[in-house]
Amino acid sequence: MIKLGDAYDEQNIFAKILRGDMPCIKLYEDAHTLAFMDIMPQVEGHCLVIPKQPAVTFLDLSDEGAAAVMATAKKLAAAVIKAVDAPGFMLAQLNSSYAGQTVPHYHMHILPRHEGLELGFHARDPEDMAVLGALAEKIRAAL
Ligand code: 5GP
Repeated sequence: MIKLGDAYDEQNIFAKILRGDMPCIKLYEDAHTLAFMDIMPQVEGHCLVIPKQPAVTFLDLSDEGAAAVMATAKKLAAAVIKAVDAPGFMLAQLNSSYAGQTVPHYHMHILPRHEGLELGFHARDPEDMAVLGALAEKIRAAL
C-alpha cells in the first residue's frame, strides 16, 4: 500500500534501476532525470520519466525536481509521438495506491494515443524485450 507521506523505500524497483542494480531500456538521462521504456506498456511507446531525487509522490518532489521531470517529459513526448506516428499523447502520474500507483518512486507516464485505440491494462502484460528494444532505438533516434 502506497500512502501520501510514506517514507522513501530505497529497495523499490526504480531506486534499483537508478543505482544500476536492475536493468532498464534507457531512452534519456541527464543530471536530474532518467527516462526508460515501461516493460508492461499500455500502448506502443509507453515510457516513463523519473526524477533522480528520492520522492514517493508529487508532493515529495522539490520544485526543481518537478521542473526537471516536466522538461524531460516534454523532450521525450515529442520523440515518442514521432517514433510511433501518434497524433496525440497523454501524460499521467498516479499518487498513492488510492490513485492506482504501484511503484513508490515518483514517475510520469508518457502514453501515445491514436484514434479508436484504447489503452491496455495498467501494469499487467509484459512486452517482449526485443520489441521494446527496437522501439527504444526509434525513440532515441527521434530525440
Ligand atoms: P504506477 O502504477 O506506479 O503509476 O506505474 C508503474 C509503472 O511501472 C507501470 O506502468 C509498470 O508497467 C511499470 N513497471 C513496473 N515494474 C517495472 C520494471 O521493473 N521496469 C520498468 N521499466 N517498468 C516497470
